[in-house]
Amino acid sequence: MTTPPFRRPGADTALAAHDWLADRYQTLLDDLAAYVMRETPSDDKSLLDQGLHYVLSWIGDRCGEATVHPYPHETHGAVTVVDLPGPLPGPPVLILAHYDTVWPAGTLASWPFTITGGRAGGPGVYDMKAGLVQGVWAIRALDKLSRPRPPIRLLLSGDEEIGSPASRQVIEEQAAGCRACLVLEPSAAGGDLKVARKGVADFDITATGIEAHAGLEPELGASAVTAIAHAVLAVADLADPRRGTTLNAGGVTGGSRRNVVAGEAAAHIDVRVSDRAEADRVESALRALSPPDPRVRLTVSGGWNRPVFARNDATDSLFRRAQRIGAALGIPFAATQVGGASDGNFVVPLGVPVLDGLGAVGDGAHACHEYIETDTLVQRTALLAGLLTELAGRTETPATHSPAHHTVARARNEGVTNTGT
Ligand SMILES: [Zn+2]
Repeated sequence: MTTPPFRRPGADTALAAHDWLADRYQTLLDDLAAYVMRETPSDDKSLLDQGLHYVLSWIGDRCGEATVHPYPHETHGAVTVVDLPGPLPGPPVLILAHYDTVWPAGTLASWPFTITGGRAGGPGVYDMKAGLVQGVWAIRALDKLSRPRPPIRLLLSGDEEIGSPASRQVIEEQAAGCRACLVLEPSAAGGDLKVARKGVADFDITATGIEAHAGLEPELGASAVTAIAHAVLAVADLADPRRGTTLNAGGVTGGSRRNVVAGEAAAHIDVRVSDRAEADRVESALRALSPPDPRVRLTVSGGWNRPVFARNDATDSLFRRAQRIGAALGIPFAATQVGGASDGNFVVPLGVPVLDGLGAVGDGAHACHEYIETDTLVQRTALLAGLLTELAGRTETPATHSPAHHTVARARNEGVTNTGT
């Protein structure tokens, strides 16, 4: 007599959910189509409100009883927290999904939701409308199949694509004390999950000089443009690509006319770093910039929009659990770190384990060819369902759980890539 192989509850749930979801594939696809066909540009408050209203009523249909906490905002899309308590007690798993897209109102007229050759396209389909559809159907599958899951806190934000100015505080408040955070942003190339993201800062360097006639009395002038030119070169020197630090002077303005020594100039800088030490180094260097002509005043404003999402043991442990479930489903994927930030960056510094890139498999975020691979919709939904069952039992505490330590060590030896996107 042979003993059947031991399978962890997450893998069992994922396989059961996969079969259940495969029978409902067309409904998932219809839900995705309906959601994509509602435009939700980050800068259109009225469309965001309508989109959120639609999403909440759809979640109510699919997931049943939920407690909805709205955080209205005057100009940005409202943050809304949907608590789905479920049968098991304990701290919730936070699921992050933004409902805004980078696509302006009217995009659908020329680019509606379409499926061709196994790819579903449309504005926001990959970033990240398919992710939310997968998340909601994962919860539905678990509940319909009576599989264990933790309490779930689904946080919908409407300003992620513009840096989350209105939702950041709510995200941080709601994440505190959660047992884990799953981010439904798109996966990286080939379906890889995201276990680290760079921190992002926006700095503005402004120079105030002294205007003077460039021909009659140039010595009385102090050029703000020259000061900014020096500053931009100093900014370039701060980059350290081997450590993951990049700086981009994406915009420079200044001066009034050719024959006037410039009184005003400015440079707009995007900074990305992979660790805190680099964040500190770059920020203090920027703030210490001084112009060659001491009569010019340089001011540096702005700061860190999203903190570094640094790789850590808790995230690695979550990733290994996901990878085991993926193996059971026959979908291999690796752990990747990327240059782009997400709302997950806000959660990592709170000490909550975060796993990102659990949304759609496809390509073309923010590009007019964005698409998802339709045959991954059911697999990825099943993966999420399995992961939620894995998280039902206990909180993610790798420091006291030796098997997790063991798998973390192995994870480090397996190919970790840096796509830098
Ligand atoms: Zn996104």
